[in-house]
Amino acid sequence: MKTRSLKAILITSAVFIAVSLGIQFYILHHIYKNELKQFDTQVAKSINTLFEDQLLYGDHKNPITNFFQSKSNGYYIPFDSIADQQKTIDKLARDLSDYELMCSFHFYICKQNEIRYSKMFAVEMGSNGFEKRELQPINLVPPTHVQHIYIEFPGKKDFLLKKLNPWLLSYLILIICLSVIAFSLYHFFKHRFWNSVQKEFINNLVHEFRTPLSVISIGSRVLQSNGIENDSRRLKKYTKIIKDQTDQLQNNVNQMLELSLSGKKSTYLHRESVDVNTLIANAIEWVGPLIQEKKAVIEFIPCANPGRLNADETYLTRALVNLLDNSLKYANIPYITLETSNSEKNCSISIRDNGIGMEKKYFKHIFRKYYRIPTGNIHNVKGFGIGLNFVKNVVNAHNGRIEVSSTPGKGTEFRIKLPLT
Ligand code: ADP
Repeated sequence: MKTRSLKAILITSAVFIAVSLGIQFYILHHIYKNELKQFDTQVAKSINTLFEDQLLYGDHKNPITNFFQSKSNGYYIPFDSIADQQKTIDKLARDLSDYELMCSFHFYICKQNEIRYSKMFAVEMGSNGFEKRELQPINLVPPTHVQHIYIEFPGKKDFLLKKLNPWLLSYLILIICLSVIAFSLYHFFKHRFWNSVQKEFINNLVHEFRTPLSVISIGSRVLQSNGIENDSRRLKKYTKIIKDQTDQLQNNVNQMLELSLSGKKSTYLHRESVDVNTLIANAIEWVGPLIQEKKAVIEFIPCANPGRLNADETYLTRALVNLLDNSLKYANIPYITLETSNSEKNCSISIRDNGIGMEKKYFKHIFRKYYRIPTGNIHNVKGFGIGLNFVKNVVNAHNGRIEVSSTPGKGTEFRIKLPLT
């Protein structure tokens, strides 16, 4: 299956999974709310029975809403008089058990105009009945001085959540399963990506070595042919071909070397005091033959006093060569501007070209090892996708920074900032 359709399927399924998880969560929330409502109704019904059985006396025309519920897990019930405290509590506990509300509660009584609860009981509800005990007086201030009973269920939330346990468990299992699938898919795609990257790298590698080797082989066969020494024009032509292809091979070998050096830490740098302008002049000289071949124009605008760097000259030169090489590679008739500038602490090197440029979305990828922009016409230009990774590693090793800006069809600029000594 093509990667694009696979991606579309994955994104669609991810959206569906997210939506179904959202719906499940909504249902769970709804169930919890319903349980809460049912709890309140059953408590109200039990309290109502206390009035009906004349254990409590008072005004309760609408029994279910005749008490007001506090924000916490308790209920206030105003009343006129109470027949028997103990019997009232026992009856309440039995009624709650009948409704299967096996949730322990505290029972407080606040008499008319009292500022403290005068009586407090704790009732432990178990499957074999209930246990009642009087509580030590605590400093609980009632919210109203009207005579009332306050019934509190400290474990109400846990009791309700316990009822949701099977739902919560299935929701949790679903989330774990989905996470495992997502994790496996991530690794599968990462593996697939690296497989394709490796495949492309090896294809490029084979192409980049095989072509010069076969050209050298043909060239040397021509040079071995009889009478070649008398044809100076052919002799020159084929020795030049062999020389160019050997240079190409040399360049490839250098790139492989850069690949092996990529990622190594600054301890491998041989630092010395380096003049920035000299560094750039050396890099330009290095790519001299390529400049001639491509009939490129290079403009160097040196800063009057660029300062000195404590750097590894060879590594930095190769990094600049890589950038110049790209500017030459990715432009038809290259016009390259190199410019140095400095601030108090840093020195900046800018390399601008008039090449094919690149879209902004690629900026964060191009410094990754083996990465090549997957645009058709770029692939006419051969490469391994390791140059910019090497440049970035070298700049990082020198505690510097590299930035890129580019406009497709217009050109690219790389800016390197390095700390001065
Ligand atoms: P390579 O050039 O071998 O592909 P690099 O690591 O040097 O590898 O560059 C990574 C990618 O960044 C290139 O494939 C190319 O698409 C893009 N790139 C680099 N430099 C330039 C440039 N000056 N202009 C346009 N594209 C560039």
